[in-house]
Amino acid sequence: MRTQIVPRRSDNSIVTVSAVDWERLVLAACRAEHIRLTKPRRAIIAWIAGQQTLFSTEALATAVAALPEHVGRATAYRMVEQLRETGWLSPIRTERGSYAYARTLPGHHHHAICLRCGATLIIEGCAALETLYALLETHGFAVQSHFLELTGRCRRCRVADEGRASGA
Ligand SMILES: [Zn+2]
Ligand SMILES: [Zn+2]
Repeated sequence: MRTQIVPRRSDNSIVTVSAVDWERLVLAACRAEHIRLTKPRRAIIAWIAGQQTLFSTEALATAVAALPEHVGRATAYRMVEQLRETGWLSPIRTERGSYAYARTLPGHHHHAICLRCGATLIIEGCAALETLYALLETHGFAVQSHFLELTGRCRRCRVADEGRASGA
C-alpha cells in the first residue's frame, strides 16, 4: 500500500476476498514463513476472518480474551501488528477519526471500504492516478509514493438504506 512509483496502465481491476479465502491464505503464508500456528494465533486469525465489519485492536483483544483459548492482550496486539506489517490487514481511518482494520491482501493495492459494514473492495493497479501524476509533472513535481483509500457505502448497505428510507 505504501510505495509504487509508476501507475500501471490498464490493470485497474476490483478484487474481493471472502473471509474463508482470507483465512486460508493467511494460514498458508504463516506456514510458508515458518510462523508457528499456536492455538492463540489460530484463534485470532479465525476471529478476524469471522468479522463482517471493520474492527479495532481493542475489540479483538477483548473478544479473544473471552475465548476458551484465553488469548492474552499482548498476543492479540502483536498479531495485529504482524498482520498489518505483512500486508494482511489495512488500517482505516473511520468516520469518528479512530483507526480500525480491514482484511486485505499483501502487496500494493487501494481499497474502497464501506464504513457501515466493512465490506472491502480491493483495487488492483494505479491507473486511476495517471491523470494526477501527469498534472503534478506539469508542475515539476516527481511523485515518489502514494497512498489512497476510499470510504463510502457498499451496494448492499445502500440498498438497505434506501429500503428503510422508503419505509419498505
Ligand atoms: Zn456495506
Ligand atoms: Zn497505487
